[in-house]
Amino acid sequence: MSNTLCVQWTIVPRAAPQPLIACSHCRCVRPFQSSGKARLNANGRKLDAWLIYKCTVCDNTWNRTIFERRHVRDIDLQILAALQTNDPEWLERLAFNPAGLKAMEATEFSDVTVRKKLLSHALDVTHLSIELRLPLTTTVRLDRLLASELALSRSRIQTLESDGLLSTAPSGRNILRKSVGDGLVVLLDISDEPERGRIIDAASRQVNA
Ligand SMILES: [Zn+2]
Repeated sequence: MSNTLCVQWTIVPRAAPQPLIACSHCRCVRPFQSSGKARLNANGRKLDAWLIYKCTVCDNTWNRTIFERRHVRDIDLQILAALQTNDPEWLERLAFNPAGLKAMEATEFSDVTVRKKLLSHALDVTHLSIELRLPLTTTVRLDRLLASELALSRSRIQTLESDGLLSTAPSGRNILRKSVGDGLVVLLDISDEPERGRIIDAASRQVNA
C-alpha cells in the first residue's frame, strides 16, 4: 500500500460576487445581488438575455447582459432551455462567474466552504495529495486556503514550499499567492512533520459543513 493519502477538496464559495452599481432609487452606489431569475427577450429571430440583479437595499433592478441580439440558431440549446426555465443551477453558476462583471467593481467573497473526501486510504502516511475541485468560479489564494484548512500559518506553508516539501501539479511561479484553479493537485511531504497526525486529520476530515 502506498504511503500517500489522497484527498479531494471541493471548494464552494458561500456567496456570489455582488456588483457595485449606482442605484437610481437610493441615489448612491449599492451592492446588487442576483435575483436568480433571467429575462429573455425576442425581437424576431434575435434574442436578448439578462440575469436580473436587485439592489440589496431597495430591490431596484439591474440587468446583467448574458447575450444581446443573438440569432436563435446561434444559441446553445441547453443555454436556451436554462434561460426559458430559469434553471436555478445554471443561473447560480452564472452569478458566481465574475467574468461578466470584470469591467465593474464587485464586492469580493473569498469565504468558502471546503468539502473533503478521502480518495484512497494509506498506511503510515508520509505524503498527502490534495486534489482541488472548484465547480463554481471563486477567488481564493492557495496559501490562504492551505493555511486555514490545515491550521498552519501562511509562513509555515511558505517554508514548506521553499524547502521543497510542498509542490503542485501543474506547478507555477508564485503559485501559493495565486487563486486556486480547478483540478490543481497539492503534494505535501509530511514525513518529518512533528504535527503529522494532526495535519492528516485536518486534510481529510470535514471541519465546516
Ligand atoms: Zn437601491
